[in-house]
Amino acid sequence: MTTTLITGGTVVSATGRGLADVLVDGETIVAVLQPGSALLGTDVAASVDRVIDATGKYVIPGGIDAHTHMQLPFGGTSASDTFETGTRAAAWGGTTTIVDFAVQTYGGDVFEGLERWHELAAGNCAIDYGFHQIIGGVDDASLAAMPKLVDEGISSFKLFMAYPGVFYSDDAQVLRAMQVSRETGLLTMMHAENGPAIDVLAAQLVAQGKTDPYYHGIARAWQMEEEATHRAIMLADVTGAPLYVVHVSAKQAVEQLAWARDRGQNVFGETCPQYLYLSLEEQLGAQSDEWGAFEGAKWVCSTPLRSRAEGHQDHMWQALRTNDLQMVSTDHCPFCMKDQKELGLGDFRKIPNGIGSVEHRMNLMYQGVVTGRLTLERWVELTSTTPARMFGMYGRKGVIQPGADADIVVYDPNGHTSIGIDATHHMNMDHSAWEGYEIDGHVDTVISRGKVVIDDGAYLGAKGDGRFIKRGLTQYLT
Ligand SMILES: [Zn+2]
Repeated sequence: MTTTLITGGTVVSATGRGLADVLVDGETIVAVLQPGSALLGTDVAASVDRVIDATGKYVIPGGIDAHTHMQLPFGGTSASDTFETGTRAAAWGGTTTIVDFAVQTYGGDVFEGLERWHELAAGNCAIDYGFHQIIGGVDDASLAAMPKLVDEGISSFKLFMAYPGVFYSDDAQVLRAMQVSRETGLLTMMHAENGPAIDVLAAQLVAQGKTDPYYHGIARAWQMEEEATHRAIMLADVTGAPLYVVHVSAKQAVEQLAWARDRGQNVFGETCPQYLYLSLEEQLGAQSDEWGAFEGAKWVCSTPLRSRAEGHQDHMWQALRTNDLQMVSTDHCPFCMKDQKELGLGDFRKIPNGIGSVEHRMNLMYQGVVTGRLTLERWVELTSTTPARMFGMYGRKGVIQPGADADIVVYDPNGHTSIGIDATHHMNMDHSAWEGYEIDGHVDTVISRGKVVIDDGAYLGAKGDGRFIKRGLTQYLT
């Protein structure tokens, strides 16, 4: 077994920071030591196989992106990152665990959907991975199957109040699934948008000739998100189920979450980098020689980008600080412009929904520290520790402490990262939603279960390094 000592760095957790050395034996952290200390009379640095000098840098638990969609079939195509390319890109960006979504569609078998996802991921991942289960068709069979997910290490499932005819659940179906959540401890994850109403608005816009990507965000108005979020909260309340709302982008939806939490409900929410940085106005203004106004298709995702003039982005940052939102995931669901996004030329409804960010989440969120919106500790909490707790991995993941998996990032606050398809981008996409972003900070070294997978600009990992994680029930309920 290889022993590694990470010396001289500032170890940051969700609750504090301090100079410390981290000793790794094989795949596991075995000690967090006073800098330069001797252990049982031996000079630790002299007795290990490898020393990593982290002087002047932060040593943080590896990032956990709890919302990705590798290879997801959507809108007549599939997300362009495979488990191989997507997890490798994640590693480049300091993320050492993803939780992806296995898919059950209407009338399909839950365990066949799960088995399919195991087949896609097994032997292909660069980092560890777990699964949530999408229940795209709530019926007697899927409801009966859901409790058995817990034994498979799948402790959360996702429902959609959007996408009628694809993944949509009506209120009766949501209620029945939440009753299973209440009985089993499975965490209900919700895509909260009023899909049937959105589809009417979208059809009317297209009929008026308003077909550009920008109108995707007009059809998916914030009222549709606020209303569905409120409905999900009330259905959760009547069943007693805990609720986790994914990709929150409207400030009014955050206000619903805060209201529910203040009345004592176990209701949580995540947002994504795109809702902190990008806006509907920028999408409207997007133009390129190649695509014209269709350039805006790069930022078609659901929930959509919101108006900066209405203050949604600032409100998301505030909610991360005040814990009205608990986590940041990416909803990584990349599609190329060529052959994929362009399916929606002339009709925004046919643009595959999704943005690729799995590589950039840690860097983008670090900008919250740079600008004083987040503390270092909150950065670690939002991107690693809370995802581990929320989804039943804490202790093994999300923390640097003896006994935890050695998932560690050495982050250089004085480094610099340029984002774009030619610069740092390893995702399988022909564009970047983040083209031209210049970021303070740099992911120097990434250790995944004791193996150095990224070091000084080189990828040293291999597909198949990552293993499936059987998750326990959420550790976050209050
Ligand atoms: Zn998603």
